[in-house]
Amino acid sequence: MGKNVFLDDMKKPELSDYIGYNENGRGNLGDELPVMVYRLMEYSLREQLTEEFGSQEQIRIFRKAGYRAGVYFAEKLLDLSLELNPFIASLQARLEEFKIGVLRIESFDEATGRIVLTVSEDADCSGLPLLGETVCNYDEGFISGILSTYMGKAYLAVEIDCWATGDRVCRFRAEPVQ
Ligand SMILES: [Zn+2]
Repeated sequence: MGKNVFLDDMKKPELSDYIGYNENGRGNLGDELPVMVYRLMEYSLREQLTEEFGSQEQIRIFRKAGYRAGVYFAEKLLDLSLELNPFIASLQARLEEFKIGVLRIESFDEATGRIVLTVSEDADCSGLPLLGETVCNYDEGFISGILSTYMGKAYLAVEIDCWATGDRVCRFRAEPVQ
């Protein structure tokens, strides 16, 4: 057996090692990519996972990956010490800043913790044709990860309306996991 240099001598890379943007790396092209390129990556990966593992497994993997991203986003890019309203305002600002989408809170039930929120101009699906199924499983995980991290308890977000089901926004229902 050859010596595993990677494991023996180096720290295992983390998410932050891959996504840290350094302007020296793309001096001419800069830090933005067209939405089409993002979707090409997302939907080719979606097709490949579905082909190899089936649709249920693809959805599960997208949700878990999105959750990972949401936890990262919350920990690195949001102020978790803020009260709920300013926290939501800062989350809205960040999502717009990164051109992920335009967040609106439709309702928050203090008794149950249930939140209904919409994302318009969503990077993943705005403008898609009617496909008959919600497609923003990555976003479900992403929102779950952000809310779970901020609330300090497990939250689950499910997409109930989507461009791909004929709506003009994506609508998510998020609630604490019982
Ligand atoms: Zn959607």
